[in-house]
Amino acid sequence: MKTKFNLESLVRENIKALKPYSSARDEYKDVNTSEMIFLDANENPFENGVNRYPDPQQQNVKELLSQVKNISSKNILLGNGSDEVLDLIFRAFCEPNQDNIITLPPTYGMYAVLANINAVENRPVLLSTDFQPKVTQILKEVDENSKILFLCSPNNPSGNTFTIEIVEELLLKFNGLVVIDEAYIDFSEQKSWLEKIAQFPNLMITQTLSKAFGLAGIRLGVCYASEEIIKILNRIKPPYNVNELTQQKAIERLSKIDAVKKEVFEIIQERTKVVEALKEIAFVKVIYPTDCNFVLVQVDNATTRYEQLIAKGIVVRNRTTQALCENCLRFTIGTPLENQQLMKALKEISL
Ligand SMILES: *Cc1c(COP(=O)(O)O)cnc(C)c1O
Repeated sequence: MKTKFNLESLVRENIKALKPYSSARDEYKDVNTSEMIFLDANENPFENGVNRYPDPQQQNVKELLSQVKNISSKNILLGNGSDEVLDLIFRAFCEPNQDNIITLPPTYGMYAVLANINAVENRPVLLSTDFQPKVTQILKEVDENSKILFLCSPNNPSGNTFTIEIVEELLLKFNGLVVIDEAYIDFSEQKSWLEKIAQFPNLMITQTLSKAFGLAGIRLGVCYASEEIIKILNRIKPPYNVNELTQQKAIERLSKIDAVKKEVFEIIQERTKVVEALKEIAFVKVIYPTDCNFVLVQVDNATTRYEQLIAKGIVVRNRTTQALCENCLRFTIGTPLENQQLMKALKEISL
């Protein structure tokens, strides 16, 4: 289907030539062999639960994720939050002071920050006023050094999902890597792009355990892509990038997937209630459609309303400085009680 995509040509030369660090646990992996005596990693031998280095390939976590997400563990790379995963993608594919990426504001701020850190040019192309990618404008920005196109879908802070047709057109017409950030996919009606990985060799998907899975504190980000892409990222990841406590917590949570689904269901129900209640607030001008665990609203004066809410002990996100988000506030959906308190506060300040 695609003829011009060439993974090899996208990888930085120094990464192609790299000889990866080989850790003790890489060289002798069979950590379950209880008869073995491990004197290879200079660990303290006295058992306390975390005296040993963690599994560098996080096989048990990947095994569970692979069942939950219905994808081979060979298509998975884990990182210390999505932030590390995104940074690895930059470092594998973007030559500093030469390559560029394309982002679609208003969107997640980390793509631009990571571009800056890695000395990679960011070419922003605004979304349309209904927060969809503008394909023609995007393709106009592309040149031979355009390595990555970041699509955040469902998008933060707008909350909407990009249409399947637009994403597919971009996957077909952009010859670099298309990274779809699905941090909020578990709150969306639209299906994940995961099952399209075999069909589109340039497709990469990032997800996280920070939102729907309720584990922001453990820092676990996920990248799904072709085996070839995952192999490249594996070569450059720090050897023990996901710590033992994080792996244990993730395994615990992924083993209770029904509990996660129940919470997600409740958050989505609460989202409907919050949206309904917001319609009754006079200073709320627009309530944007949302597929996430937050809702973006345009108000009369975002900064005034933000400060009034702070005075009532409620912290929301003021997005007024973001492109296309003038006078917009972003409300995360909380517990039923928290949402009631938000609505009460909004009514009080509207008087
Ligand atoms: C919250 C969020 C993430 C999560 O990042 P972590 O580092 O995994 O916590 C990623 N992408 C978007 C768009 C987000 O809003």
